[in-house]
Amino acid sequence: MFNEKQDYKILRENMVESHIKPRGIKDERVLEVMREIPRHLFVSESESSYAYEDFPLSIGNEQTISQPYIVALMTELLQLKGDERVLEIGTGSGYQTAILSKLAQEVYTIENIESLALKSEKLFEKLGYENVKIKVGDGTQGWTKYSPYNSIIVTAGAPKIPEPLIEQLAENGKIIIPVGNYFSQSLVVGEKIKDELITKTICGCMFVPLIGKYGWDNSIQM
Ligand code: SAH
Repeated sequence: MFNEKQDYKILRENMVESHIKPRGIKDERVLEVMREIPRHLFVSESESSYAYEDFPLSIGNEQTISQPYIVALMTELLQLKGDERVLEIGTGSGYQTAILSKLAQEVYTIENIESLALKSEKLFEKLGYENVKIKVGDGTQGWTKYSPYNSIIVTAGAPKIPEPLIEQLAENGKIIIPVGNYFSQSLVVGEKIKDELITKTICGCMFVPLIGKYGWDNSIQM
């Protein structure tokens, strides 16, 4: 008999075993949450059968949900223990937010496209993610009200690390952000040590552009 719940669970298990683990993700907490979050609910219904394949999918408004491996990698790099206050820039589908909500204490997420933010907010309510706060706005300016943050994750490509995000990072806090040109970037991890940001580059990546005051200018048409 067809059992949708069970089938998606098997697809998620396969995703972890064939795409996530073989590419080097080891953090058990991250792997466990990837097995748990129903990614098919974060993509459009017409694409839900591809939800557990390892590629990005369209979420409308020319934006994409990141491929599962990149979500796992960025999450692992934050080394969350469970008591952190996290800021995410670029809510998009809300999938990365959902992952973070299970691994940290509080998640604050900013999306600059209102329709995407509203859709994600509804889904967070439906799925009962109560430790998530979302707002519509320019995430390059951060969210001062709840700062400082132990972890900041940016899921859109930036020309450089936005200064307000460095300011809003707590001492010993970590920021992970794709930095580069409009089309391709390097994944950078920064750690704030004695008020200075020490950065290292992890790998190449491709994200949609981070548009905003400390990001790309949205009047540029590419
Ligand atoms: N983490 C998302 C990835 C979405 S793609 C997911 O799992 O689905 C990146 C998102 O960043 C897009 O939705 C885009 O609209 C958003 N974005 C771009 N510039 C932004 C800014 N300055 N502030 C907030 N969100 C921004």
